[in-house]
Amino acid sequence: MSLEPKAAGNERPRKIPPLRAGAVTSILHSDYQKGFTMIPVSSYSGQNVAVLGLGRSGLAAARALAAGGAVLKLWDDSPEARANAEAEGFACVDLTRIGAFEGVAALIVSPGIPHLYPEPNRVVAAALTAGVPVDNDIGLFFRSFATPDWDQFDISPRVIAVTGSNGKSTTTALIHHILEVAGRPTQMAGNIGRGVLDIEPACDGEVVVLELSSYQTELARSLTPDIAVFTNLSPDHLDRHNGMGGYFAAKRRLFAEGGPDRAVIGVDDLEGRFLANQLAEGADDNRVIRISSGQKLEGFGWAVFARKGFLSEWRKGRQVTSIDLRSVPGLPGAHNHQNACAAYAAVRSLGIAPKLIEQALHSFAGLPHRSQLVGERGGVRFINDSKATNADSAAKALQAFPRIRWIAGGLGKEGGIKGVVPHLGSVVKAYLIGHSARDFALELGDTPYEICERMAHAVALAAAEAEAGEVVLLAPAAASFDQYPNFEKRGEDFAAQVQAVLGG
Ligand code: ADP
Repeated sequence: MSLEPKAAGNERPRKIPPLRAGAVTSILHSDYQKGFTMIPVSSYSGQNVAVLGLGRSGLAAARALAAGGAVLKLWDDSPEARANAEAEGFACVDLTRIGAFEGVAALIVSPGIPHLYPEPNRVVAAALTAGVPVDNDIGLFFRSFATPDWDQFDISPRVIAVTGSNGKSTTTALIHHILEVAGRPTQMAGNIGRGVLDIEPACDGEVVVLELSSYQTELARSLTPDIAVFTNLSPDHLDRHNGMGGYFAAKRRLFAEGGPDRAVIGVDDLEGRFLANQLAEGADDNRVIRISSGQKLEGFGWAVFARKGFLSEWRKGRQVTSIDLRSVPGLPGAHNHQNACAAYAAVRSLGIAPKLIEQALHSFAGLPHRSQLVGERGGVRFINDSKATNADSAAKALQAFPRIRWIAGGLGKEGGIKGVVPHLGSVVKAYLIGHSARDFALELGDTPYEICERMAHAVALAAAEAEAGEVVLLAPAAASFDQYPNFEKRGEDFAAQVQAVLGG
């Protein structure tokens, strides 16, 4: 039997570093044998560790901890999730019972479970009372990623971590794509792709690109990327962070003192400007790369910005590169130009050449449900931006096209569409769906609208009324949960209704 991790089908053969002897014994008792790839976590070898939440990330943490020799106490309120874990050979222990945290070294919590606000989950509260620290899979990853095998590598593996309110997935996927085009070994994980502990141990010169949400950065006890990227900040998930200050503090942890070698920071928001200035020793300090979509940033040590469709890189008062983004198909709109700047800056700091990056930008297909073209007829384009789940991302989508038939609504967030109102100039008519339809209508002023309730009606009506040169855009500015299990299903429904209308 081979102890080698399973290679993912679409990846090049990789040089897998040998596992440490200490880890191998425990791996024999673990699911590693069943072919799971993973980063074993050995820092809790021989200690009791509790894991709360047995979804994807909780189970991955359990496997990685077991592989590293920890003694596990697993729990999930859902009997189904517990049954899944037990089917894998794990034992579940009721962590809600008095005394459950005796002798426990740490509690590992899944991102969906509140650990402080609006109020801690009762198991987390019990751990806090018992003096047990709380961590997550990201913290475990950063403790376990580097191994002694790296001494034999020519180039140490690096981690790029991307956070921000919007554009994280696009920027992460774009960085990963550029690295692939450049021929660098790379894996993508976190909120996108695999869980962080599900990836393969790093090979020589590998770059792991992580998308990290505020939930993840807030809790992780270790957070030490080599390059950290902050795209932008706008209100989201405020209940979980007890307001905007807590939300910013959670994101900011990625840049803690003694943190990344290089910080790529979007300075189009106040918080980004503050963060960049706090980190840099003066404007010349090129450990901070400032990025912007719209501002000219010439007076800094290193900056990358996009204006009028052109990306420019400036170093110490001189322009180094200019790239025309207007014809890059996978990155339409000023918001995607911000993502392009962030990804460009991150890979430039790894020494990748501008020409190569330019080529990779052109071959980037974009991600599903983000400014995704799903149909075209008679000069009318149908764009799926179902991932625009908050007002800020929807406002950005509305700025990407000149004449829009806008499909919006769902489960509205705090503040409704107030953030969208200044950008309604490009909206020819709004087609409102879901729970928030009537609330949104009240904010629209003179913009024509129609309450459509459901996606099928909205798409059919917008398609019938659209004229050549216009875009029918789904950018809901709301969560999907009133009508769909998630934003992906909402986007798929939009695409299906478009196909129905186009006769596909
Ligand atoms: P995240 O992973 O941060 O949610 P995505 O790349 O998935 O980011 O994009 C989420 C939504 O935000 C999409 O609707 C997309 O069109 C919009 N968006 C993408 N990049 C940006 C950006 N830089 N600024 C604002 N909105 C953006």
